[in-house]
Amino acid sequence: MIKKSLLVLSAAFMAIFLLAACSGKTERSSSSTNGKEQKIQVVTTYSIVYDIVKNVGGDLVEIHSLAPIGSNPHEYDPLPVDIQKATDADAIFYNGLNLEAGNSWFDRLLETAGKDDKDAPVFLMSKGVEPMYLTSKGNEGEEDPHAWLDIRNGIKYAENARDGLIKVDPDNADVYKKNADEYITKLQELHDKAVEEFSKIPEEERVLVTSEGAFKYFSAAYGFQAEYIWEINQENQGTPDQITRIVNLINEKGIKGLFLETSIDARSMEAVSAETGVPIIGKIFTDSLGKPGEDGDTYINMMKWNMKTIKEGLSK
Ligand SMILES: [Zn+2]
Repeated sequence: MIKKSLLVLSAAFMAIFLLAACSGKTERSSSSTNGKEQKIQVVTTYSIVYDIVKNVGGDLVEIHSLAPIGSNPHEYDPLPVDIQKATDADAIFYNGLNLEAGNSWFDRLLETAGKDDKDAPVFLMSKGVEPMYLTSKGNEGEEDPHAWLDIRNGIKYAENARDGLIKVDPDNADVYKKNADEYITKLQELHDKAVEEFSKIPEEERVLVTSEGAFKYFSAAYGFQAEYIWEINQENQGTPDQITRIVNLINEKGIKGLFLETSIDARSMEAVSAETGVPIIGKIFTDSLGKPGEDGDTYINMMKWNMKTIKEGLSK
């Protein structure tokens, strides 16, 4: 009796499978057939999203990341291989909040890859993040993309990576849940540590001067005041007006140290340093990880590096 209904069931499944195959729809599955694993093909827009998705996807995913390490993901020119990978991808993960909006490179890539309809497997990592907004002239009211610099938002990114991977690969939901749980525990510990460590810096010393104003979320989370030459990476050099503004501010506030981001041309900050006589006291990671095996080569390592560099730099 049981055997018979099983037979009927398998026949039904076979029919559905054949129908799916005939409709030309290729349902990819990572479950093994003949012992051969087929990895979920993923595209991420830049290195930080890459690392978070990698932590959740583990060995089940193969990831192609777009804007290279050390570059500024606000603007990017996709290569033919990127278009091919995006076309073939089972899932695409992006930051959103206007990060990939410079010259609309990401929207154009999705369109070219045929992934621009609302049912496409394209997942927003910053889903659920409370956005902060730009305030400088010409940018007022635009969303600030740098949400990941508050580690609590990094946790949301990990949850969104988990939910996206489960959607495209439900057979392995348990693995993604387990990986995400373990990773989120580490992120929560790191956030708690950051709160504790930064609270040891006297409040009036907690001023961060960087090239780009990438530290809004960070500052709100960890009790800093964020200053910058330009607010958002639409250009990569400060204008004379922007330089004058920050030079005056540094002099007025008696700021003792400046920070330089690894993904930004050093010249503007060097000019500010030369003009004020205030030294650049450390490199920090904002829009990109470090190269594999070097400082800041994962999201956790970059946040640890920033924590240490900022704390040591401002405690001198
Ligand atoms: Zn940026």
